[in-house]
Amino acid sequence: MAFPNQTRPRYRGDFHIAIICALSIEADAVQGIFDEFWEEENSYGKAAGDPNTYTTGRIGKHNVVLAHMPGIGKSASASLAASFCSSFDGIRLGLVVGICGGVPTGAPEGEEIILGDVIISTGVVQFDFGRQYLNKVVRKDILEDNLGRHNLEVRGFLQKMSGLHGRKQLMDNSFLYLTELCYKPLFRTWGYPGASEDILYPSAYHHKHQQPEACRICASQEDSLCQAAIESSCEELNCDTSRQIPRLRLQKMKERTILAETEIIHRPDIHFGKVASGDLVMRSEIHRDRLANQEKVIAFDMEAAGVWDHFSTVVIKGVCDYADSHKNKKWQKYAAATAAACMKAFLKEWRGMDKPLHPLESWDQKSPRSSKATLEAANTLGLIHQPTTQTSANEKTPGTK
Ligand SMILES: [Zn+2]
Ligand SMILES: [Zn+2]
Repeated sequence: MAFPNQTRPRYRGDFHIAIICALSIEADAVQGIFDEFWEEENSYGKAAGDPNTYTTGRIGKHNVVLAHMPGIGKSASASLAASFCSSFDGIRLGLVVGICGGVPTGAPEGEEIILGDVIISTGVVQFDFGRQYLNKVVRKDILEDNLGRHNLEVRGFLQKMSGLHGRKQLMDNSFLYLTELCYKPLFRTWGYPGASEDILYPSAYHHKHQQPEACRICASQEDSLCQAAIESSCEELNCDTSRQIPRLRLQKMKERTILAETEIIHRPDIHFGKVASGDLVMRSEIHRDRLANQEKVIAFDMEAAGVWDHFSTVVIKGVCDYADSHKNKKWQKYAAATAAACMKAFLKEWRGMDKPLHPLESWDQKSPRSSKATLEAANTLGLIHQPTTQTSANEKTPGTK
């Protein structure tokens, strides 16, 4: 869709949406969703000492800045967010977009979460921050409590979007954008991997050498696991797919496919809830379920806790595994694509604010308020982007069709 009034921002301060991706497939999917890039002719630079790498562009009616994280985890995301703020001081909303592990039965209304669904955070729990006791970790606090909740604007917006109408709108538009993305030549291999690849094992059935004679360590105790098993796939270990938990949604999808004789079409569901965030990669069905029961979290992520302090942050992540010992990477591309599509649908509903008149605009418009002093002040604040060509803000922006 064209947004004819949308012009290229003139200053870094004109960007209000920050997007943070830890993995390159996450950033690839997000860039696949961009409507325009503001990179070709000029870049907006960055503040002195800011080591971050950015991509700027437009998604729908919003100008966005995507930051590419050099690594995973909350300390990397915290330092990235701090530098982000020094370069882009007008950010109103931070989105942590990408892939996560989902809690299969975690949704508040008891709905099933299946692979490829999207999680939108209503709060973040830092799960590796606390005290380890014999049988459990007692975390110190949840971020909702000790760092304050989302600001009023984000809380109200999430309230609206998680309602019946808002959620349907989000799901419909996400599906549309996902379809568009997967049709692009670069994303032809990013489609739905298939319902038969979506396997959830019971919490008591672990990913290990399944035949006792195959491995002494794995056979020694119920929760013992050898290194070779950690590095092997379910197929290599003969994890028994007949033990998988039947899922109603997958079953319905398969039935519809047989009736209509078409390919299985997955419409990603969107779930709102708390996300557990920490530096540990969760790959234990036992700890997953314990934390999910204790904290009522529905997904696991590694970046949100670091970013939360700096922006009003919403996590939008596609479920690529069940945070259990059987997890694999088969679903990562598709989950990254569903998250990026949902992010675009989310931004479609997010309202931009009326812009206060910028000091430089009054000068541009030759209003009586214009003055050399205003220009100098803007220059000192680093607000002025010096164009490399003679294009004016009113000219058609490069890349606009
Ligand atoms: Zn073993
Ligand atoms: Zn397995």
